[in-house]
Amino acid sequence: MGRYDAQERWKVKNPDKDREYRRKTQLNCRVKVLEQYGNCCKRCTFADPRALELDHINGGGHSERKRIGNMGVYRRALKFPNEYQLLCANCNRIKKAERNETRSKVVGKRMGG
Ligand SMILES: [Zn+2]
Repeated sequence: MGRYDAQERWKVKNPDKDREYRRKTQLNCRVKVLEQYGNCCKRCTFADPRALELDHINGGGHSERKRIGNMGVYRRALKFPNEYQLLCANCNRIKKAERNETRSKVVGKRMGG
């Protein structure tokens, strides 16, 4: 328990370092996931990692992420490769529209005025 206290104190004193550490850990995990899923979009083979998103094949990725967090999703994705796929932001958006996962109607609505 004492060690946890020290860790918490360190986090309070070094919020930037803590954030940086978490960012790095998350990034490493993300790199692993991207590698496992072929480093490109499954639909259009777009390969810029900045726009690649891990997609839960059967949907519900959003609530899952809310429940177990980004890292939790990455860990699951490494463990259960059949449940996820890699999509670029465009394809992910399109897939969601096809499945009516988006709340607002995408068709016929102009984005950003
Ligand atoms: Zn794509």
